[in-house]
Amino acid sequence: MKTGRPFSTINKSLFLFVFFIGMFLVKAQNNGERPPNFVIIFADDLGYGDLGVFGHPTIKTPNLDRMAFEGQKWTNFYAGASVCTPSRAALLTGRLPVRSGMASNKQRVLFPDSKNGLPSEEITIAEQLKEVGYRTACIGKWHLGHKEQFLPTNNGFDYYFGIPYSNDMDKLSGKVYSDYWKRPNDSIKTEHFNVPLLRNTEIIERPANQNNITKRYSEEAIAYIKQNKDKPFLVYLAHNLPHIPLFASKDFLGKSARGLYGDVVEEIDDGVGKIMATLKEEGLAENTIVIFTSDNGPWLPFENNGGSAGLLRAGKGTTWEGGMREPTIFWSPEKIRPGVVSDLGSTIDLFTTFSKLAGATIPDDRSIDGVDLSGVLFEGKHSPRDTMFYYRGTELYAVRLGDYKAHFITEGAYGQFGEREEHKTPILYNLNQDPSEKFDIAKDHPEIIERIDSLVKEHQSKLIRGKDMLAERE
Ligand code: MG
Repeated sequence: MKTGRPFSTINKSLFLFVFFIGMFLVKAQNNGERPPNFVIIFADDLGYGDLGVFGHPTIKTPNLDRMAFEGQKWTNFYAGASVCTPSRAALLTGRLPVRSGMASNKQRVLFPDSKNGLPSEEITIAEQLKEVGYRTACIGKWHLGHKEQFLPTNNGFDYYFGIPYSNDMDKLSGKVYSDYWKRPNDSIKTEHFNVPLLRNTEIIERPANQNNITKRYSEEAIAYIKQNKDKPFLVYLAHNLPHIPLFASKDFLGKSARGLYGDVVEEIDDGVGKIMATLKEEGLAENTIVIFTSDNGPWLPFENNGGSAGLLRAGKGTTWEGGMREPTIFWSPEKIRPGVVSDLGSTIDLFTTFSKLAGATIPDDRSIDGVDLSGVLFEGKHSPRDTMFYYRGTELYAVRLGDYKAHFITEGAYGQFGEREEHKTPILYNLNQDPSEKFDIAKDHPEIIERIDSLVKEHQSKLIRGKDMLAERE
């Protein structure tokens, strides 16, 4: 004789148990407890001083200002390099570009005749997130290799729409010279730059019409968000502007008191506002983390067509603060604790932070330079980052440790800010007291220099340098 409950009753209980667990999971999903969506809005050559909320007196950026008031404004946040290609590689891989080979002393960035791009062994943030079920889109400037095997669709992105490198490349010969585009100049036309516009891997327009490219990028991002709202998503929106040559659409042209550069930034800001509105309308805002930042500092030799690093020294191409410290805002209503964060952070940290939030495993077969910033974003904790390595090409020029920055080598860029100089005793600044890098305090703090020296020794002893992927051209 059988004892206990009949088998069918056990089966029924099991069924009910599984059913209720299932219902709970569905409910959790509907309550927005799925992993967060990520939107990275990355400007090109936007300076630290070019947003209203970062102190620009005439560029009007009401949407970014609101994003900062509702979210976190980061005042010590760094790009991974001072020029486009290595900076983008750093953001996407969470690694210093010297490790991936996306930094070179021969070519600072990739060109339309470059042979290579991001090595396939590198793991991008998109590949990380795709692994845990995310939909992924790259919209805008890529600049990590324009050949098919290097394009976003071969680096973890389901979808790509954009110009695969800088908007000043593929110049029609004899048309444009660097002096010619210094001041706003009506005779510079989008047709002078034969850059392609791609959808996935196909060229759909050439030359890309850059007059409305900013608007189209924002619209693509919005469409992707709407179409993919049922699953977690990553949208990496990398604007080609305000890198020169500058273009704005009819609604913005001639509107900003700052002139053409202001028109361009204000159009980017308008797109940010529309993206925030879409996230709110679709009920996604509370479960989406949006970050706005820039790939490197302003391109200063272009005078009124270049941006401003505000109170920071120098600009794009240098390891002075103006080259790599970026105006950065994180936003996620109800989740991110509003405030101003002066702790250190970097685009290099997005790989680790987003991977952890999404439940993706951080690779342990390589050095990852990023740290997890989520404690700062959500819990008001201090940033785990206390160092920043400033490379130019594959050479380490400077190191920040906490408040202090030691320059071992200094060098200007594009004919400004002086020649290369090696410093036997490093120049030392306290960046929190002296953000403009004016007052060398090396003599007063030999102990800080000693600490930074030993940090450098440790860093260099473990560094595995990637093969130079930028040098070879066809
Ligand atoms: Mg750039």
